[in-house]
Amino acid sequence: MLEKANIKKDRSQALAQDALTEKAILDTLSDACFLLNSEGVITYANSATARFFSGQGGIGQKIDACGMAPRLSKAVLEALAENEAIVRPVILSDRETSATALEQTGESAWLVDAAPVQSGHSQSSMRVLLRDITTEYHTEQVRKDFVANASHELRTPLAIINGYLENLTEGNLLKDQDTALRFLKIMGKHGRRIARIVEDMLIISRLESGDANTLKIKPFRLKSCALDVVERLESVISTQGASVHLQMEVPEVRLAGDRFYWTQILFNLVENALKQNPQMPLAVTVGWREEEPGLIIWVEDNGVGIPSSDLPFIFRRFYRVEKHHSQEEIKGTGLGLSIVRRAVEAHEGKIEVGSIPGEATRFEITLPRQMIHRQGKAISKSPTANS
Ligand code: ADP
Repeated sequence: MLEKANIKKDRSQALAQDALTEKAILDTLSDACFLLNSEGVITYANSATARFFSGQGGIGQKIDACGMAPRLSKAVLEALAENEAIVRPVILSDRETSATALEQTGESAWLVDAAPVQSGHSQSSMRVLLRDITTEYHTEQVRKDFVANASHELRTPLAIINGYLENLTEGNLLKDQDTALRFLKIMGKHGRRIARIVEDMLIISRLESGDANTLKIKPFRLKSCALDVVERLESVISTQGASVHLQMEVPEVRLAGDRFYWTQILFNLVENALKQNPQMPLAVTVGWREEEPGLIIWVEDNGVGIPSSDLPFIFRRFYRVEKHHSQEEIKGTGLGLSIVRRAVEAHEGKIEVGSIPGEATRFEITLPRQMIHRQGKAISKSPTANS
């Protein structure tokens, strides 16, 4: 008799222990997980649900009265009403999330995964999981914006080329050699523009691929890279009557980096200064010095500058300060500075910009010590793209 009672006690202790273990496991989930009965009352909720409920919301309350963002509870109630499983993304604006205890800024995205739980023959409750998919959602948005912007940027020069082509062939203008040559030159200009956009897009997508092999790390002298850039821009510099001065406090410094991307960085920064100031005898300085935490590299010009209201956005893809310009006047692809920032970040650095229009516009890159190559010393760490 006593033995039977002991066995029963042991069994109920084991069951209680199992329940505690299950609860502990469910509480470690980052997904919010809860159960509803057929009336929509919450009968179980793991720890991660706390952020969705306001005040005393939680176990014992109805799903539409626990302070949860209405769009989330609506999706759950629909699953309950239909008694069917659903897996549905729900996007919340910051206004909606503020109704709950969620400390979100901006939009957030959630995957609502609800399914009836069968107990015996009758359906007794609904299991709900809420998963935060905000990062994936934003990545997808950025990708969609990129495709939309890129198509828009490519469509205009393509339409111009097609228009001139049609004029040449259907307007029988090929016999008029002067006109034909003028048209071909315009088409060539827009063809080169398309090529530059495509080239810039490829560079960005390589840098964003997250592939550790994107960078080919090999020590090189920063001075020779800067001199290359000046040489490549020589004809623009002399046409504009501009000057480019190298201010090298450590002239022989060698970087442990990918020379191709460093050329892109310096080229885009110097070319931007020249492009934005074609009418004036511009002075551009490219310089570097060793300073904690490693190396500071800067490109500065005394041109028209960037209005402070635009400064926070200029590293965004396709962002331009001048928004209203004809195709003839477009100066760049709008991708230059995003390439610069991605390439700097891939080398574990950061870039900042400051501008006093008409006085000084300065882009300053800070690189960590391990990016400086010391003679005879192995490169301590290989940087990866998208770091
Ligand atoms: P773009 O290919 O149009 O030059 P970027 O991404 O390189 O695109 O630059 C974004 C915008 O930032 C440019 O359109 C320009 O308005 C502004 N900008 C960048 N560098 C300078 C500079 N040195 N002086 C003035 N404006 C600049």
